Amino acid sequence: MSELLLYSAGLDSFCAWHYLGHPPALYCDLRHRSRDHELAAIRTLAERHSIPLTISNELDLARWEAEDGIIPLRNVYFAMLASHRARTIWCAGVKGDHTADKSPHAFFEVSRMLTEFTEQPVRLDSPFWAMTKTDIVRWYLDQGLPVEDLLTTFSCLQPRSAGQHCGRCPSCLRRWIALANNGVEAPFAATPWEWPRVHDYYVPAMRDGIYPEHRSREFFTALATVGIHP
Ligand SMILES: [Zn+2]
Repeated sequence: MSELLLYSAGLDSFCAWHYLGHPPALYCDLRHRSRDHELAAIRTLAERHSIPLTISNELDLARWEAEDGIIPLRNVYFAMLASHRARTIWCAGVKGDHTADKSPHAFFEVSRMLTEFTEQPVRLDSPFWAMTKTDIVRWYLDQGLPVEDLLTTFSCLQPRSAGQHCGRCPSCLRRWIALANNGVEAPFAATPWEWPRVHDYYVPAMRDGIYPEHRSREFFTALATVGIHP
């Protein structure tokens, strides 16, 4: 296998699968809290779109999952598992991502490490470094692909029962912004724009330039779609 897409069940990796021309996909089940909801979403989408999907059960990292759903170094583990199977590894990082293990610099360094220790040229990269989540959803819709499938994707860090997105976590907020800015109404257990943290933290942080300019522009544009002009 020459290339592989790391598939997470979220919006970005589902769109990436279309964007990259339908490559083989790998989902890594780390026994984390959201796994049941993610597996339900990816199985549904894999069946609908005949996604050539492998599910890896090789690592149990539940012990290292933080309260907020983050597993440190997760993308490095994913890349190591993928490097047994392919030389080009796609992982859907988006414009402005700057977490420790998900950024152009992090992917460059992981590629360098895997190339050295496997003694094969390994490339970990994202097709979306120049696109925001809003741009990615716009691209997907411009292809005439079904909105229903976009809404079947799953990306909540604190899921409610039956796979409902909580509307009260950073991942839900980013999902809502990307969909709202494309005129797509998505179900959430609680409305993301009424999450107290939006007003207590995000509004001042977006104004103070803590986030990249495109992130704050898309944030305020999304709030305007529900009549909020802070
Ligand atoms: Zn959530």
